[in-house]
Parts: sequence; structure tokens; C-alpha cells
Amino acid sequence: MKRIPVLAGNWKMNKTPTEAADLAKTFAASLGDVTAAEVVLCPPFVALLTVQAAIKGTRLGLGAQNLHWEKSGAYTGEISAPMLAGWCTHVIIGHSERRQYFGETDETVNKKVKAALASGLTPIVCVGETLTQYEAGETAEVVKRQTWAAYTDLSAADAARTVIAYEPVWAIGTGKAATGAGANSVIGIQIRGTIGALFGSGTAEGLRIRYGGSVTPANITEFMIQPDIDGGLVGGASLKSADFEAIVQSAIKAKGS
Ligand code: PEP
Repeated sequence: MKRIPVLAGNWKMNKTPTEAADLAKTFAASLGDVTAAEVVLCPPFVALLTVQAAIKGTRLGLGAQNLHWEKSGAYTGEISAPMLAGWCTHVIIGHSERRQYFGETDETVNKKVKAALASGLTPIVCVGETLTQYEAGETAEVVKRQTWAAYTDLSAADAARTVIAYEPVWAIGTGKAATGAGANSVIGIQIRGTIGALFGSGTAEGLRIRYGGSVTPANITEFMIQPDIDGGLVGGASLKSADFEAIVQSAIKAKGS
């Protein structure tokens, strides 16, 4: 089954609203009419509006980096799915930095995925093992558990509206990426396999699953030539316009789209 590559830039806690708009304008000019891949920019919450204005009229998607599962209420500092719905397209859920520093659990990830879907947002669901788990040989078990938990009680139709990012925690921001073959194996066997067990092989084959963790222009091709890898979630390199543009173009070339 043909799956359109998807590449997202996770800008994390970087860029003021003005700086973010400037960076988004460069991507709007260089990547705004790309059709062979879905390209999504995920700035901090406060920059979503300025980035939205900067990419207006282009094909670029706009993603938040988190949300709360409740629609509204006494949750100081939080942002809900209905607040993002209708103008944001995507939302990152369960990023390892949120699991590590902000108490995100498999259960809250599941609630957030459901909230995003209910508001018509595309969840970018992040899973991945820590260095300790990797060294203990627990990658398969951890990734299967996280995937299963995130998709618990979803319908196959809803699952098909999500995308997944496999991000080994030891590869995020470390400059030490996984190998293409290693990431492909985890994605194909553990993640796509779990989606298949939950929803059937048709849903699993259609779902786009990408790799994230120290992706650069130099290594993106190694990932994109793998049959089960459908794109990248890019952190550090997405803040450098030339690097992110090169990553998107190389990804498209590698998939032959
Ligand atoms: C990320 O934040 O999701 C990420 C993969 O970061 P980096 O590309 O910097 O490793």
C-alpha cells in the first residue's frame, strides 16, 4: 500500500512568536507547495497563531506539541483540543520529553489521543524506549506496551486517522541516531504488528509510522529507504531551514514519490 511520507518539525521550547513566523515564512516559500509529502510545523503554543499566518495559503500543516484531554475547566496553564481544532491540523502526543519531565503516562497518552481525534486533529503518537530499556533488551516489550496503551478503545477508523513516531529516547537530541534497519524492524514488527493485532492488517498497512531521533540531511535517506518507515519527526534539524528543507527533499526522493 502506498503511504504518503509525513515529515514534522518539532520546534520544542524554541522561538518567540516573531522568530517562529520568520522561520515558517522560509518554509512556506521553499516547501509550501510540496505535494509528494505531508509537511507539518509544530511550534510552541504561543507561536501557533503567527506561524498559521505565515503559512496561510500553503500546503504546510500546523501542529501543537501537546494538549489536555478535557475540553475545558480548571486546568491552569493547559490547552484543550477544541481550542486547537479547526485551525491546527496535528498535535504531538506522548513525546518522550513529556513522559520524562511532565509525568505523561500511557493512560494520559490514550486520553489525549481520544481527545484529539474527537476534535478532528491528527495525533502524532510518540513511542520509544529509554537508553536503560534499550540496553536491557526491553525495546520490543516497551514499544508494544506503549502502542497498545495509546490505541486502547479506539475504533479502526479512528486509528487510521493517526500517525505514529517511533523515537528511541536515547537518540533524541543526542546526535546518536538509530540505524535504518534497526528502526525499521521495531516499526515493522513491534508497532505495525501491534496495530495489526488491534485493528487488522488493513489498518496496520495503511498507517504512517515515522522515525525520530537525531535525523539530519546526512541520515534521512537511510531511514526513508526502509519499507516500514514513512517519514520523520525532526527536532533540532527542523530549526535550521536549509537542513529541514534538505530532509524533506531527500525523504521524497528516497520514497520515489
Ligand atoms: C524530537 O524532538 O522529536 C526529536 C526527534 O529531536 P531531535 O531530532 O533533535 O533528536
